Order: sequence, then structure tokens, then C-alpha cells
Amino acid sequence: MKKTLKIAMLYPREMNIYGDHGNLEVLTHRAKLYGFDVEQIIYEPDEKLPADVDIILGGGGQDSGQNKIVDDLIKIGSQLHKLAGNGVPMLMICGLYQLFGHYFLTKDDQKIAGIGIFDMVTKAGSERLISNIVTNWDDYKLVGYENHSGLTTLNNKQKPFAKVVAGAGNNGDDQTEGARIHNVFGSYLHGPILSKNPKFADELLMLAARRKFSDEFLKPRDESAKKQLVKIHEIAEQAREIAMKRPR
Ligand code: GLN
Repeated sequence: MKKTLKIAMLYPREMNIYGDHGNLEVLTHRAKLYGFDVEQIIYEPDEKLPADVDIILGGGGQDSGQNKIVDDLIKIGSQLHKLAGNGVPMLMICGLYQLFGHYFLTKDDQKIAGIGIFDMVTKAGSERLISNIVTNWDDYKLVGYENHSGLTTLNNKQKPFAKVVAGAGNNGDDQTEGARIHNVFGSYLHGPILSKNPKFADELLMLAARRKFSDEFLKPRDESAKKQLVKIHEIAEQAREIAMKRPR
């Protein structure tokens, strides 16, 4: 019996800066190596987001892109809240991460409303935070690249996703990076984050597989898949080591 994971990407036409769409490709490729079938769902405004979606991804975009998709995001907001409460893993990067909070206030004082899955607000700062970034996600180092004007403040009880080691993260001040609630992750890390940090890609797959199939762990499909996973791990580790040495 084939196990299928439905993985949706929100608004890639507007929200796909620095190739965040690559997160969908990484998850798809790894899911197949672990023996799953994958159905990719590209979600654009006015379409229907299936109720039985297993993972939802979203990327970064310019302020103008955020403006173009926000009405639709508000429209599907209650569905996203429900899916989040039901444990569906989600990963939102930069622009969509900001709109998963309460609002983003642009440098022209325009308030772009968000859907408030994360208890946080974002306000444009006077300079852009552009940098390679390294964070601690428990004891695993996440590496990536950030470029945002928004400074995000987590409200009291909102947990961050990771802790900044080098770079700016949420606001360049309190060492927090991203946010997490239920199985919903938000982050400023482009890269794409899942190609640079395969362990995190597997965490999302594991959360989805546990939820849908009660799987206990991810198992390579066969010997050749196992070899490919080892090879990818080796290459990613080399790239990660270099990236960790040059945060700025
Ligand atoms: N427009 C947002 C900002 O600059 C998001 C940028 C991004 O997604 N890279 O803060």
C-alpha cells in the first residue's frame, strides 16, 4: 500500500524569494526516498486548499507581494488555524512568516494584517538585516541567509523556533529566531532552509508521517535510497561547515 503525503506551497508566484520554493522540492525528494508518494499542491489566490493537506509551506516576498496575497491569506486564515490546531506541520519563511503573526507595519506605516497563528508583530526597521545566519535549534545548527527590513517581536508566551548564534534573526536584539506553535514553524532563514538543513526537513516529514500513518520513524525505501540519503548528508554537512564559518 502506497502512503501519500500531500504537500502544499502557498502563493509561490509572489512569495518565492531566494528560491524558497526549493523547500517543496527537498521535501518531495526526501519523502520519496523514504518510500512515500507525494502530491504537490501549488496554492494561489482563490483556489481551494484541500482539507486533508499534510504539510504546508510558504516563502518570502517583497512588501508588494505580501500586499497582493494578504486578502486571500485572511480568507483561508480560519482553515489554517484549524489545520495548525490539528497538528499539521507548516513552515513559513520571512514574508509569510511575518503574515502568520498579527501584522507587518511597513516603512510607509501601512499595516498589513496577518492571521495571528503566531503571537507576534513585525515592524519595518530603518535598515535591512542582510546576513548569513547560524542558529541553534536545540543542539542542531541551522544555517541560512536572511534579508528583511521587518523586526519581529514575539509576545510573552510565544516560543521562538531557534536561538541566534550569528546574524540578526527576529530583530537583531533578543537573539530569538523564528517562532513555533504546535507543529507550525516560522523562520527568516532562506537557503532554502531545508536543503541546507536536512535534519529539519526530516523533522517535518516525521511530524507528518506520525500524524497521518502513526509511523515511528522514517525508513529509506531501499538500499539505493539509503545510499542517496547518506550522500546528501555528506554533501550537506560539508556545505554547512563552510556556511557556519562565514556568518557576517
Ligand atoms: N518584506 C519583508 C521584509 O523586508 C519580507 C522580506 C522577505 O521575505 N525576504 O521584512
